[in-house]
Amino acid sequence: MPHTLFISDLHLGADQAHSFAAFRRFIATLAPQAEALYILGDLFEYWAGDDDLDDEFHAQVIAALCSLAAHGTKLYVLHGNRDLLMGDALARACHAKLLNDPTLLHLYGTTTLITHGDMLCTDDVEYQNFRAQVHEPEFQKNFLAQPLSARKAYIEQLRQHSMVAKQNKDSAIMDVNDDAVAALLREYHYPRLIHGHTHRPDRHEHIVDGHRCERWVLGDWDRQVSALRCDAQGCHSVRF
Ligand code: MN
Repeated sequence: MPHTLFISDLHLGADQAHSFAAFRRFIATLAPQAEALYILGDLFEYWAGDDDLDDEFHAQVIAALCSLAAHGTKLYVLHGNRDLLMGDALARACHAKLLNDPTLLHLYGTTTLITHGDMLCTDDVEYQNFRAQVHEPEFQKNFLAQPLSARKAYIEQLRQHSMVAKQNKDSAIMDVNDDAVAALLREYHYPRLIHGHTHRPDRHEHIVDGHRCERWVLGDWDRQVSALRCDAQGCHSVRF
């Protein structure tokens, strides 16, 4: 049956052998059977800029993604918070199309909104302030003007800081805020919603203005390798 796959939060990095092996298996087996694959952010553990395309590990990821085009599987990519700086050169190299966050799809008769999901975590005010800053075009321009090695060092610092900050935060504030979800569903006229980022794979229902909306949360690949498969009959999670 014609179907589409959604994944996110793979956090691929040269030191993450387990998730890269799973990724290669996914690209060789499940992905080529789909009409389209959507990666909803955080494909990479971090992305310092498109001038890092030639890195040996990145070249392997790109080659794997490239292979999908030969099977006719269309590839779409959303930015996550960790790979916010993925640009057109990377997209071209993977034969992928970079999409805006959020993007509304017409998926086998069901309007479906896709987002990385971090915009919905509004209870984490510190994170939202940071997010607003790094989304500024001026900030990104200045950042990308620095040498690649300096950018990598800065990102490494951020990752350390983020790991410590997460340990000290109540886990509830790192989940989506129900009012933010409702506002987004209202803005897009009550679609199905698919997102990642929170690493809490599940299916939820939200009733907004009397409309029942499904919300699918994708899992991260650190703990449980999975994808969401959607066709004309609906969506379900597939493990492999
Ligand atoms: Mn994320």
